[in-house]
Amino acid sequence: MKPLVDLHQRRIKYMRISITDRCNLRCRYCMPSTGVEWVPHEQIMSYEEHLRILRICVPRGVEKVRVTGGEPLLRKDLPEFLASIRAIPGLKDLSLTTNGIMLAPMAPLLKSSGLVRVNVSLDTLDREKFAYITRSDAMDRVVEGIESALENGLSPVKINAVAIRGFNDDEIPAFAEMTISKPVEVRFIELMPLGCVSRYPEQEKITAPEIKEAIEQVYGPLEPLQGGLGPALIYRIPGALGRIGLIGAMSEHGFCGKCNRIRITAKGALRPCLFSENEIDLVGPMRQGITDEELEGLIEEGVRKKPSNHGSCAGQQIAHEGQGTMMFDIGG
Ligand code: SAM
Ligand code: SF4
Repeated sequence: MKPLVDLHQRRIKYMRISITDRCNLRCRYCMPSTGVEWVPHEQIMSYEEHLRILRICVPRGVEKVRVTGGEPLLRKDLPEFLASIRAIPGLKDLSLTTNGIMLAPMAPLLKSSGLVRVNVSLDTLDREKFAYITRSDAMDRVVEGIESALENGLSPVKINAVAIRGFNDDEIPAFAEMTISKPVEVRFIELMPLGCVSRYPEQEKITAPEIKEAIEQVYGPLEPLQGGLGPALIYRIPGALGRIGLIGAMSEHGFCGKCNRIRITAKGALRPCLFSENEIDLVGPMRQGITDEELEGLIEEGVRKKPSNHGSCAGQQIAHEGQGTMMFDIGG
């Protein structure tokens, strides 16, 4: 079948689907402490609707699916949904991004349902700082979640840390040290101008090259490794069990040229680029009864809207001002 290719000759191989906008944390850069206007339940995409889209996209070349949110572990019947995704012929990889709070008890069932691997978000290794950034004193549960993911073979386990100057820049070497004895991939993510990030001034962002330098000052030159198809540059401290990923979403020029992903928001829109508000509503027409052929046409139209790079997205400026779709709707 004809692959999904955008106007810049990038083949779409990766879909990130946000299954809820709800969350049990309130990370300061992502959500306001109060007053989040949740999407009404009936507007959230049903699992069946997600599966209908996936059953069109996987035969067209989507190989990898990541389930995200909000906090995806909050959504009911997630294991059954994961098993249905896994059963789609041609799918090669099924992963999930979670804040880890509910992961420890769920990891065995997630694994047996067909989940291949997890990314767990953890921005600090200090309990008090964790309580500050997430507004919840629950770091121990996240650490237990990471251990449980490792024990249950949800591998490779990746730890997502958003790097924020003045908050966790002093912990960069400690995060890197975790990779020496644990088979985890610590991924440092540049703070992106989305969500509630406008509360943080520009100078709080730390770029990927700065992070690399901070690690190399302690551990010496990092060994570059072959990365996957994603935007991360992958390194290893020589001799370490785990790996270090640097995601230079804002500073890395090669980031967009290699982008092979599309996103489906919790509200059922195809979002062609993280920074683009140029979304295409899928769920509305689906509920009005469009055929699979018509739905495929809408998906192709969404793919054609993928900008060549995020600098050209009108949405970037909107997001800067704290408006537009929020990160917890999009799924990161
Ligand atoms: N709740 C889950 C979690 O936190 O892992 C999944 C959804 S969350 C929106 C996905 C990822 O986006 C997390 O790793 C989070 O740290 C990251 N994120 C949220 N807002 C961000 C921002 N403004 N800049 C960079 N990363 C951000
Ligand atoms: Fe929730 Fe994830 Fe956003 Fe934190 S980053 S508030 S855990 S959705």
